[in-house]
Amino acid sequence: MRKVSQIIDGKRKIIKKPELLAPAGNLEKLKTAIIYGADAVFVGGKEFSLRSQASNFTIDDIKEAVEFANQYHAHIHVTCNIILHQENLEGIKTYLQTLDDIGVSAIIVADPYIMMIAKEMNLRLEVHVSTQLSTLNLKAIQFYQSMGMDRVVLGREVTFQDLKTIMEYSPVDVEYFIHGAMCIHYSGRCMLSNYLSRRDANRGGCSQSCRWYYDLYSHGQLVNKEDDIPFSMSSKDMTLVEHIGELIELGVDSFKIEGRMKSLHYIATVVSTYRKIIDAYCEDPDHFLLDHSYQQELLKSANRALCHGFFYENPTQQEQLFNMRDEHPTQEFVMRVLDYDEKTKLAKIEQRNYFKKGDRIEIFSPYHPHFSFMVEEIYNEENQEVQVANHPMEILYVKIDFRVERHDMGRKIK
Ligand code: SF4
Repeated sequence: MRKVSQIIDGKRKIIKKPELLAPAGNLEKLKTAIIYGADAVFVGGKEFSLRSQASNFTIDDIKEAVEFANQYHAHIHVTCNIILHQENLEGIKTYLQTLDDIGVSAIIVADPYIMMIAKEMNLRLEVHVSTQLSTLNLKAIQFYQSMGMDRVVLGREVTFQDLKTIMEYSPVDVEYFIHGAMCIHYSGRCMLSNYLSRRDANRGGCSQSCRWYYDLYSHGQLVNKEDDIPFSMSSKDMTLVEHIGELIELGVDSFKIEGRMKSLHYIATVVSTYRKIIDAYCEDPDHFLLDHSYQQELLKSANRALCHGFFYENPTQQEQLFNMRDEHPTQEFVMRVLDYDEKTKLAKIEQRNYFKKGDRIEIFSPYHPHFSFMVEEIYNEENQEVQVANHPMEILYVKIDFRVERHDMGRKIK
């Protein structure tokens, strides 16, 4: 059992703070995740990684990521978690050696061959067992420890009860999902995409076939009627925002946020929310109260309905999106702040979605509390006043009376 707290100056404090581990699909998202409070970020390389569409990190990108992370004492984990076929074997040793040489902290693996060679090569980096292996019990964790693995990323199907047992005896670090999408099948054991779109889910090609809309037949009769919402097999996304304190008290080593395909806005919002909760809880665990605003904040970036996944027990129909529409975020990401001029009160911004004069924008930041303002003046780079910001990534200047900082973001209040 891990010692997680200690009395310091008459007050109990958490001394074993969990790592907050965020996803990133490109360098911009990675830097944002770290600036907004992630202790570590997991990325996919061009090779040997799932989520091939999200994995656009070249070796040079990973090198830059490591250098950036070092400035913030953060860590980079690289996913090497495809299920290898014969044709995927070539080049793996060179790839792992390169990741080690450039200072990657950990690789996340699913194939026993990569586990074996990573250990044989005596790499400095840690080797983490991917969630793709659906590790759900202590005996399996002990097996991976005997293989020299440093950490196990548990399957999302581990309940809180089982997690308690695991945390009491686990001989290696444990990583647990706290937020993000769920698979309707055990991770790593789904072939829906392979059958329906000839894209291999276990080699980075999942086409998310479970989320497609289907007509549902029973004994040849169409079950969902024409005007029904179409049937899909997808789950709601998971959030454990109400249970962060319990997970910290168990000594879970790393809290994982899912979503390398997710947007910059999503990553900034989710990471900064969990950062605040973890820090507040660890500072004063016995007086921590979960402010409702944290849940409200997460909903601003959620694009699907949320549930607790397997935390309590097996999910019911309520946790599925059978015949249900996706939810959409309550606010829309419209700008990223690049600079601010105190004298003119003009913020230099990069446009991310349509907004116009008269819209109310909420500014959120890793540095200061949220505030909102009404858009009254927008200028283009030629210093001409414009009425609408409707060109993606256009550099514009927006009048904001309160000081904003580089890396702040703005979202339109609907
Ligand atoms: S098809 Fe759906 S359940 Fe299967 S791997 Fe892809 S996202 Fe997961």
